[in-house]
Amino acid sequence: MYSYGVTALHPGPDWPRVIAAYKLSVFAHIVDTSLTVSAPLIKRGIYVFSSLEIKARRIALDRAGLVAHFSVLVPLVVLLILRFGKWIVRRSVKNDYDAVPGSPIRKAARLETGVKVSRTWGRVSWWLDEEMVAGWGERKFWIAGLGWWAWLITLCVVGTGDDYMHITKRFGIVAVSQFPIHYMLSMKSAYSPLSLALNTSHEELNPYHRVLGRVIYSLLFLHASWYLNFFAWAGFLSALYKRPVVIIGWTVFLLITTMVTTALEPIRRWSYRVFFTIHLIFGIIILPMLFFHTSALRIYILEAFGLFIYDIICRKLDTTTGFASITAIPNTNLVKLEIPIPATKQKRFTAAPGQHIYLSIPPESTPPNTSTLSIHNLLFNPFTIASVSATSITLVLRSLSGPTSKALKHLTTLPKAHPPISVEGPLGSTKSFPDLTSYDRILLIAGGIGATYILPLYEHLQDQMETHARSPDRVQLIWSIRSAADASWALKPEGRVPLNDDENVRIFITQHSSASEESVIPGSPTAIEMSDLKKEEVVVNARGGYERPDLKEVVDGVFKLGREERVAVVVCGTKGMARVVRGEVGRWVEWGREVWFHDEGFGW
Ligand SMILES: Cc1cc2nc3c(=O)[nH]c(=O)nc-3n(C[C@H](O)[C@H](O)[C@H](O)COP(=O)(O)OP(=O)(O)OC[C@H]3O[C@@H](n4cnc5c(N)ncnc54)[C@H](O)[C@@H]3O)c2cc1C
Repeated sequence: MYSYGVTALHPGPDWPRVIAAYKLSVFAHIVDTSLTVSAPLIKRGIYVFSSLEIKARRIALDRAGLVAHFSVLVPLVVLLILRFGKWIVRRSVKNDYDAVPGSPIRKAARLETGVKVSRTWGRVSWWLDEEMVAGWGERKFWIAGLGWWAWLITLCVVGTGDDYMHITKRFGIVAVSQFPIHYMLSMKSAYSPLSLALNTSHEELNPYHRVLGRVIYSLLFLHASWYLNFFAWAGFLSALYKRPVVIIGWTVFLLITTMVTTALEPIRRWSYRVFFTIHLIFGIIILPMLFFHTSALRIYILEAFGLFIYDIICRKLDTTTGFASITAIPNTNLVKLEIPIPATKQKRFTAAPGQHIYLSIPPESTPPNTSTLSIHNLLFNPFTIASVSATSITLVLRSLSGPTSKALKHLTTLPKAHPPISVEGPLGSTKSFPDLTSYDRILLIAGGIGATYILPLYEHLQDQMETHARSPDRVQLIWSIRSAADASWALKPEGRVPLNDDENVRIFITQHSSASEESVIPGSPTAIEMSDLKKEEVVVNARGGYERPDLKEVVDGVFKLGREERVAVVVCGTKGMARVVRGEVGRWVEWGREVWFHDEGFGW
């Protein structure tokens, strides 16, 4: 004879009663104390409870959900405190430097606590920013993800005893309690609460959205598998297609599985549209479904839905449409767009260099034969603002094989037309960069179209140097391009020294480099680019030469200029280029040099 709580239990399977007990306790949250369950199920932790016990379990479940939900605030507050601490240390170090600029005293300053702390922090943050394995994401995301996963698992397990249904339900509610922060991390609007609180931009938050997505999925996977397991034990698999609540649960799980699968990098690379449309549509559908799955989840679902709507409204309000002039840049596969901006937004566009916008093509500008419900209604692609004037912004984009690229390329064939183009933004993290002019040297490295980001930054820094009466030689620009024509859009910046005459700009033209031809992957954007090479008429002063830049030599050259100098390095190019630059700079960080490093990738 087995007993648990107030219920008398008899050994031996008694499936009809087990199912009746399950229905009452799990769905109706009431219990008939005369019901019994069999010994095999008890051994597996499946019991029939009194109504009081059911209530206690409900309270414990709700509490776990709320703790998981609100505990998100803890890392946020810790992060803000850490940032404040970092700011204090930097300030004290900067004051030391400003006070004692002489070289021998400066060396002695290395021993001072502020400098030591700052350098140790520099090494730690460099280590955190490193990829665990090439292409597998930075260490900080892994640590954050595993730490958060361990915390949520603890919340799922603590106090569940040997009650199988309790732990199964816990995994469900704790997973869904993370939906609001998960949706918040995906918000692209400049007015996202997290972007505002952390003074950051969506592309910096997006990796955490992906990590949290995997954490949530792992919890939901266990929740769903344990329910399936239970149905199998209890001989109640018919619930999978008979009970609406179970049908909803399984459908949501399958939708989320599809979202997680299509978000994997190979699929995103194969078709960004497939990933994006599935993510958007399924991301909306699952909310009402979970709302009806169980009432305990509603608070989290409403919150996530509210954030989703808030993001859409902010983004709509931050989108303007103007009649653009779109031209193809001769002998390249580059397209130049000039899009008017409203006077009210001009200040935001000029607030920082290297910001980007989201471009979308309204139905009236989509190529002929496009259906009314076209993919363009859902697409918005990011492009960096190459320059800003009082009335317009200029974008330069490499035409690839995707729908937005193709549509814009098509619009260049209508030279007199000024099709309406919508832009949302500006967005980007450059606003929150530290004051780069406080560094002794600044090295900017651009690969190909990455110059849309690096060149405005270079011009801005040169202006800053002039304002602070510092030598312009402190800022160096390396730009690697395949053909001279690729630089044509940038050679004569308005009101500035032409790039060809600027001693601090080294352009490398790599089209003659056999190394670059060897590394072309057939069908890749690079291959398209190579096949497009034509006779060039543009004259570029290739101060760097006609080979790929030797990035080791470039980096070492800057660091060797002064033994104690603080160096800022910004790179915007291919992933491979950024990885090499980071590796080379990393050696100097190891040797104790103070470095600020930023890699602006053009895709995720
Ligand atoms: C911050 C940022 C700035 C960029 N600036 C420039 C630039 O100045 N010039 C330039 O030529 N290219 C730039 N890119 C790359 C550019 O966005 C893609 O090349 C372009 O969207 C490709 O469009 P498509 O129609 O050919 O292909 P799609 O199939 O629409 O997209 C191809 C790839 O573009 C990226 N992409 C598309 N839409 C999004 C999105 N909504 N969010 C994030 N990534 C997306 C993804 O990596 C995707 O795999 C930038 C990318 C980013 C993230």
